[in-house]
Amino acid sequence: MLDKVLIANRGEIALRVLRACRELGIKTVAVHSSADANLKHVLLADETVCLGPPPSINSYLNMPAIIAAAEITDSVAIHPGYGFLSENANFAEQVNESGFIFIGPKPETIRLMGDKVSAIEAMQEAGVPCVPGSDGILSDDNLENARLAKKLGYPVIIKAVGGGGGRGMRVVHSEAYLFNAISITKSESAAAFGNENVYMEKFLERPRHVEFQVLADNHGNAIHLGERDCSMQRKHQKVVEEAPAPGITPEIRMQMGERCAEACRNIGYRGAGTFEFLYQDGEFYFIEMNTRVQVEHPITELITGVDIVKEQLLIANGNRLRYKQSEIKWEGHAIECRINAEDAKTFMPSPGKITTWHPPGGPGIRVDSHLYNGYEVPPYYDSMIAKIIAHGDTRQTAIARINTALSELVVEGIKTNTPLHQEICQHSAFKKGGTDINYLENRLGLK
Ligand code: ADP
Repeated sequence: MLDKVLIANRGEIALRVLRACRELGIKTVAVHSSADANLKHVLLADETVCLGPPPSINSYLNMPAIIAAAEITDSVAIHPGYGFLSENANFAEQVNESGFIFIGPKPETIRLMGDKVSAIEAMQEAGVPCVPGSDGILSDDNLENARLAKKLGYPVIIKAVGGGGGRGMRVVHSEAYLFNAISITKSESAAAFGNENVYMEKFLERPRHVEFQVLADNHGNAIHLGERDCSMQRKHQKVVEEAPAPGITPEIRMQMGERCAEACRNIGYRGAGTFEFLYQDGEFYFIEMNTRVQVEHPITELITGVDIVKEQLLIANGNRLRYKQSEIKWEGHAIECRINAEDAKTFMPSPGKITTWHPPGGPGIRVDSHLYNGYEVPPYYDSMIAKIIAHGDTRQTAIARINTALSELVVEGIKTNTPLHQEICQHSAFKKGGTDINYLENRLGLK
């Protein structure tokens, strides 16, 4: 087994990785910024290294400092978590070249899936359905682009090849705005992602976000763990997730899941990954792959009983997958609420000292959080402070449990978005299930 793992992340996911390491008897190294010396996993880790000052660029994105920390602590592998360097192919390459194991796919796979056009091409080859679009990057030929948009039918969306995090996209409703939209998206993309290439897709007007979780080893084996519905979004950020997705039958699950697993075998995928789809009128359209563990992985863990982070570590150790597809069973329903340190109405960040922290509990409740009484939420990073996750034998039980859990949650000293979660989870539209990705913003009056 891996002897010592360096955790190149912070917050709840760093703690999640530390716990999985402990279970497997792996020693841990926590690396942190000078603002994060009191993070829970830093206090619990076997060894700690301060990377530098608070800004991410000087700490959690500081590749030489992280690799040097792995060297001085004799770590054998680096777990990147999500965000930060987790989908940075250059980092994965440098980790490997420095003699460490990167806990994730090969650098070339990250690169392939990080470029959205090459990702779509790879998926089309594997028979995964994609959004009708430009089949590659757009040329400078205005006439050709106009012809294509007309063929797809307005509205269309112009997307940056190197885009991410919901940035680098522009919806176009008529030809009058097409050329302008293409040139603005190009120049913005050049500035933001260092790549001015853009492509065009049909814009789907009321899709749901449904994604499939996969696991693949280094020996050509790949399985899927079914899907999650993450349609409850604000500004392309997921707010509430659930698994399974309402309305997805076991037959569709197996059919789509198997296509994703097959795509993994085709591209030589390794580790945990997620295929994200837009789902509208019974059709799936691939939009991108995340080549890392995701925030919402616990809901899949609760309904399958598979520990995704532990599997990541075992796969990185070179083990064969422990499960055959036929051994994966889905039981009940799980819902996750992302609790952020922010005002529930204005969404303004609300860092500061936690004076009281009472997490909920009871049957079917899981809380993934690095908070404790007296902990100070720093202002420098993502505002997510906890994930409240409920599991029940039916969707109805899971909803009842998440509502009970939200009502028990006490966080004092800072503001949180808990009231928004309560509103969502008590609403009849959520109870009915299957709301599309525009639902929350429409309700908040943002659209
Ligand atoms: P990112 O890498 O920035 O997350 P994605 O390609 O995953 O970019 O798209 C982010 C979000 O943008 C999607 O979840 C969806 O809400 C919206 N979106 C992207 N492509 C389309 C499309 N063709 N039609 C409608 N919405 C889209």
